[in-house]
Amino acid sequence: MHAVFCSPSRYTQGKNATAVLGKEMAGLGLRGPALIVAGKSAARRLADLWKVSLGEAGIRYTVHAFGGECSPAEIERVKTAARQEGARVVVGAGGGKVLDTARAVAADLDLPVVNCPTVASSDAPCSALSVIYTEEGVFHEYRFYRKNPDLVLVDTQVIAHSPPRLLVAGMGDALATWFEARTCVEGHVRNMRGGASTRSALALARLCYDTLIEDGAAALQAVRTQVVTPALERLIEANTLLSGLGFESSGLAAAHAVHNGLTAAAATHAYYHGEKVAFGVLVQLVLEGQPQSVVEPVLRFATAVGLPVTLAEIGLKEFSGDLLEQVAGRATARGETIHNEPFEVRPDMVADALLAADALGRDWQKHHGGPVGDDIPW
Ligand SMILES: [Zn+2]
Repeated sequence: MHAVFCSPSRYTQGKNATAVLGKEMAGLGLRGPALIVAGKSAARRLADLWKVSLGEAGIRYTVHAFGGECSPAEIERVKTAARQEGARVVVGAGGGKVLDTARAVAADLDLPVVNCPTVASSDAPCSALSVIYTEEGVFHEYRFYRKNPDLVLVDTQVIAHSPPRLLVAGMGDALATWFEARTCVEGHVRNMRGGASTRSALALARLCYDTLIEDGAAALQAVRTQVVTPALERLIEANTLLSGLGFESSGLAAAHAVHNGLTAAAATHAYYHGEKVAFGVLVQLVLEGQPQSVVEPVLRFATAVGLPVTLAEIGLKEFSGDLLEQVAGRATARGETIHNEPFEVRPDMVADALLAADALGRDWQKHHGGPVGDDIPW
């Protein structure tokens, strides 16, 4: 098995980076016409900036309003719009689902793609894959593409004004990266590109975790104050670039499979990907039998920034036997990344680990306090 490392062709991050979007695109030979797929608030916030930035670069564009879910039907709608406009490049601007849709459309039409995340809520922007959901929001499938985005441009001024809860969700997604990467490397399994991991990818995954621990709380404070600070810049890089490179080039394991399982419970749909993944990290650590010295820093970090450590915090106050079975069954479905764990994982083991992780989280909150009630900033 060869080692494979992949990444976007260009990653640009900084305060007011949208001002150089047109220049960056033109520099990469992406001259349009462009179809911009944008979420509502992204379009509202960025419309004037696009006019100037893309206008100066001479890039014609039209904006397609995102339908709300990265589903097969929405992907078809955007493809139709791209064909009608004669688009030669697809730009996604908004949250994870918008960008996932833009990448899916670009891959189907064999066009270059630019991702402009307006929140740092997941590690999807840099990847060459999308997570596809049904119209109802249930996990459907992963789609893999030939190549990573041509450009990922992150405007940290925009993210400083995004909802704090979304930044924290991104920390939840990034929290999983190191633990899943390490498991994959130790087990010598294939990464998301079908190759072995590199030392580079594992080192980036570790840097991702260390950055969360060191800068997570300060970055959250910056977003609550709506200011850009060095800690926020570092944390956004961890959520978006380090986590993205780490997971794709090292691999996923139990945490993301547990997330996919949790989407089978409708009550969890009100919670973000990264929030469910964060709880999935705890489940993975329990499943792997990790010692207290590994589990405790995760519990401490999660509660400090307001990530869920209990089932109740992801909408599962009532978790009946049937539902538990469904979630565990979905998490261990054939082809799931939980089978990258270095031992056979059966549904009953996941069901036990879900309840054990919940008990750990409740116990931690009882003894150390947790951001319950008024302490939660959202
Ligand atoms: Zn994720």
